Amino acid sequence: MSVDCLFCRIIAGEIPSYNVYEDEFAFAFLDINPIARGHTLVLPRVHVTKLAELEGEALSGLAAALQRVAAGVEKALEPEGLNIFINQGEVAGQVIPHLHAHIVPREKGDGVRFETPVVKLAEEEFGKVSELISKTI
Ligand code: AMP
Ligand code: ZN
Repeated sequence: MSVDCLFCRIIAGEIPSYNVYEDEFAFAFLDINPIARGHTLVLPRVHVTKLAELEGEALSGLAAALQRVAAGVEKALEPEGLNIFINQGEVAGQVIPHLHAHIVPREKGDGVRFETPVVKLAEEEFGKVSELISKTI
């Protein structure tokens, strides 16, 4: 646990939250400033900032919890769809430096927007970038 971390303190029960799920590896509660009704955050118990810092059971435990909580949100609220995403790094919108996935229930015409302009990439750039990435994996 990181004492300076808001989400670690929520997991420890020091700060109130609307909890929806917890197990050995993961914890889930409602986002306090929801984009939509039922906006839920799912996080590992262990304090890490990036997805790549998680390994083994902590990683598979988070993935399993994310799937489980998303299924629960669907069953309980019957949205038409879900956005499931992680903001990693300040530039990507990560405000709380404890890794967490957002689950946002979606309805047609709900006004939620994730639209950005499309980046134009030349054919050779696609080739270069796919090679660069695949070589590191
Ligand atoms: P991110 O921008 O991906 O780091 O997301 C952080 C999220 O945490 C935001 O959507 C906030 O609304 C949410 N949040 C901040 N403080 C709390 C809190 N005390 N309880 C629940 N959610 C919170
Ligand atoms: Zn933390």
